Amino acid sequence: MTGARLDRATSPEIRDRAARGGSTLLVPLGATEQHGPHLPLGTDSDIATALARDAAARIPGAVVGPTLPYGSSGEHQDFAGTLSIGAAATELVLVELGRSASDTFDRLLFVNAHGGNLAPLAAAVERLRGEGRDARAWSPRFGGDAHAGRTETSLMLALDAAERGRPFPPPADRGRPNPPIAPLRSTAPVGAPERTTAVREGVAEVGNDAPLAELIGRLRAEGVRAVSPNGVLGDPTGASAAEGRALLAAALEDLCATVRAWTTAGVEVAS
Ligand SMILES: [Zn+2]
Repeated sequence: MTGARLDRATSPEIRDRAARGGSTLLVPLGATEQHGPHLPLGTDSDIATALARDAAARIPGAVVGPTLPYGSSGEHQDFAGTLSIGAAATELVLVELGRSASDTFDRLLFVNAHGGNLAPLAAAVERLRGEGRDARAWSPRFGGDAHAGRTETSLMLALDAAERGRPFPPPADRGRPNPPIAPLRSTAPVGAPERTTAVREGVAEVGNDAPLAELIGRLRAEGVRAVSPNGVLGDPTGASAAEGRALLAAALEDLCATVRAWTTAGVEVAS
């Protein structure tokens, strides 16, 4: 059951897996918040989900839980579509999730891709560990610009490319006549795969690309719009799927190294 998805497994399957010992649950943490005019509100959730699933595929006995798509995003509240539950609720959700998870799993790792979650996440992990539960947090350190700029645009271009690169038709359908390939569309019809092309090319805009350290005081006090009217902190110019793939690969290595150092189960070498 390497890399199993919790939401696709049955309770007896998970019970039997956990009974063998050494089980690790990875819970991706994202956000639902504006990412400028060209990236979707679920950008952070997509990135966390991809990293957690890819890591779980390399970690024997790992299971990936459903992604938490809400977090602490109050500084983006001025932009339509942002859904924030705030820092206090985020911390409480993570504490309660951790308590519940530790009834089944030996270890719990939150895989977080949203900077606003860092403080409540650290507080939640501290509380869980204080209760004797083996919980940890990991967040990627991509570097680059802060929000909806070259870094996140490259990451999303890489995820889009990976989605397009899936074998078509799926292996189960090989040998049958190929169905027509539908054009990419922004809204998936019922029953279609969830993900379609996320990045809106041609509408990306340069934002405020001053270092985050210079902006953070005003950003925290007045929100993102006060420092960047279009919601972008950085500059998407030059973003590419190749750059995103390299960033994802480096983050994945770091994530796997974290788990390797933590567990005795070992991590399979990437092929
Ligand atoms: Zn983001």
